[in-house]
Amino acid sequence: MMTFAELGLDAKLVQATDALGYVNPTPIQEKAIPVLLSGTKDLVGLAQTGTGKTAAFGLPLLHLVDEGQKYPQALVVCPTRELCLQIVNELEGFKKFQTGMHVVAVYGGTSIGQQIRDLKRGVQIVVATPGRLIDLIERKAINLEQIKYVVLDEADEMLNMGFKEDIEFILQNTPKRESTWLFSATMPPEIRRISKKYLKEPVEITVGKTNTANKNIDHQYFVTSAQYRYQALKRLIDFNPGIYGIIFTRTKADAQEIAEKLTREGYDIDALHGDLTQQQRDKVMGEFRDKTLQLLIATDVAARGIDVQGITHVINYELPDDVEVYTHRSGRTGRAGNTGVCMSIIHMREMGKMRHIQGIVQVPFHKMDIPAGKDVCRKQFFHFMDKLLQTDISHGDYESYVPMLEEKFADVSKEEVLKRVAAMEFDRFLKYYENAEDLNVYDQRRERFDRNSGDRRGNDRGDRGDSRGERGGRQQFSGGGDVARLFVNLGTKDGFYKASFLQFILDMSDLRKEVLGRIDMKEMNSWIEIDKRAAKQMIAAIDGKNYKGRRIRMNDADSRR
Ligand code: AMP
Repeated sequence: MMTFAELGLDAKLVQATDALGYVNPTPIQEKAIPVLLSGTKDLVGLAQTGTGKTAAFGLPLLHLVDEGQKYPQALVVCPTRELCLQIVNELEGFKKFQTGMHVVAVYGGTSIGQQIRDLKRGVQIVVATPGRLIDLIERKAINLEQIKYVVLDEADEMLNMGFKEDIEFILQNTPKRESTWLFSATMPPEIRRISKKYLKEPVEITVGKTNTANKNIDHQYFVTSAQYRYQALKRLIDFNPGIYGIIFTRTKADAQEIAEKLTREGYDIDALHGDLTQQQRDKVMGEFRDKTLQLLIATDVAARGIDVQGITHVINYELPDDVEVYTHRSGRTGRAGNTGVCMSIIHMREMGKMRHIQGIVQVPFHKMDIPAGKDVCRKQFFHFMDKLLQTDISHGDYESYVPMLEEKFADVSKEEVLKRVAAMEFDRFLKYYENAEDLNVYDQRRERFDRNSGDRRGNDRGDRGDSRGERGGRQQFSGGGDVARLFVNLGTKDGFYKASFLQFILDMSDLRKEVLGRIDMKEMNSWIEIDKRAAKQMIAAIDGKNYKGRRIRMNDADSRR
């Protein structure tokens, strides 16, 4: 295996890779870095995120760019703000010992003024999303005259997001461009066309087969019926208590709705999708990265290029249509040599699609049973007991309590104490799963559907307590309370999105999430379904209070009409 020094990189860069703990170059780095350093002009790199491609172009850029000249010499264009920040973050690490080197990130959704000031300070490398870059070009706030190196990262995704003209505009407006390095996970015809038009005899480097999934990932699928998809998701999460994962949905609405439902049920989850403001996206990503959030639910576009270390599971709430999308999703886990699991919840009709993906990805997919309620309980139980055993009691004055505790528990056996601890922790959980039904769909599913169409399904729904409005007829909460609808003059304009709004009203009113039903948010106002018995308490707690200097008005929506 090669070392970074052997690739021909500047000593300061080798020192930086050491400081970052990189021992050996990854395959794409080993292939691309010597080629780029040798003065080759253009390159096409077929590689997915997670392969180390940022360093594959980042290290050569830092090596080639003239630290003594304080104007933009290299431009990296990428599809999303998150990726932009990630690239800058990595470059910062690589240029740690190049004190005169400056890198700036320019992306939309945030103040352009600060970015213009950063650019004026004199930078050598600009990392940009296409839209904001064009904005800066048009304002003449950025000078591309001296740009020698252009990197297009995740080119296929930029095209998917409709940046084709922008990319061509950028390539046409870099007159001194000597080298163009194009990275893409896939090679659709349109990328080939761009490559042909703007790149001169590029060296092509492929890492792995384009669609081949990472071997460190265990691909599993679970067959259920469409109406049990949400429950199956919950069960998979519950069966993996230490999970740190991303759930993918096809639509923004699904991502938001499932995040809200799971939040209501006590899960650490938030949604990432295109409807959020940049501030909200940053907040969600920040919380997920520092593991305050255990789960992130995202659409493909929003999660594009995200590089978060240590993701244990990717869950496909629904299968994507494209194999490439599947590979991108599953590639969020099993990174940097770690193992990961990619679980897909599918229904019978999707079996063909599943086989198709499996055929192209060319690794075995494992059909798994959705765990039974009692299996989930057992798993949670032992996880909790492990946590109990591992709890650090070395600090704190617990010793001094021991005599008192011994006295208090004199007549209680160790077994009984354990049972009581378990009951405290698990009562609600056990009740939920006590009569939980088998969510698997077997081949003889028609028979099973018939069997389930009566009471059993009704029972299960009743247990969940989240089926308001699904049963038809008059809406009721699980405890039997009728539904009231409240109006409030707060909405998305106030910076809320559903999950944060829910948290806000629950915090203000000191009510539990179980009392809430659907929340309908508009720009200026929102409507909240709530258990009638809790409505008064919520109004009393919120109506008349101030939010950001504005008086909040909350009342029964239906009595106003
Ligand atoms: P990327 O494909 O550029 O998104 O990189 C994936 C992750 O691998 C990033 O977190 C990098 O910091 C890390 N990484 C890149 N190159 C190496 C290397 N040679 N050794 C160890 N980790 C690396």
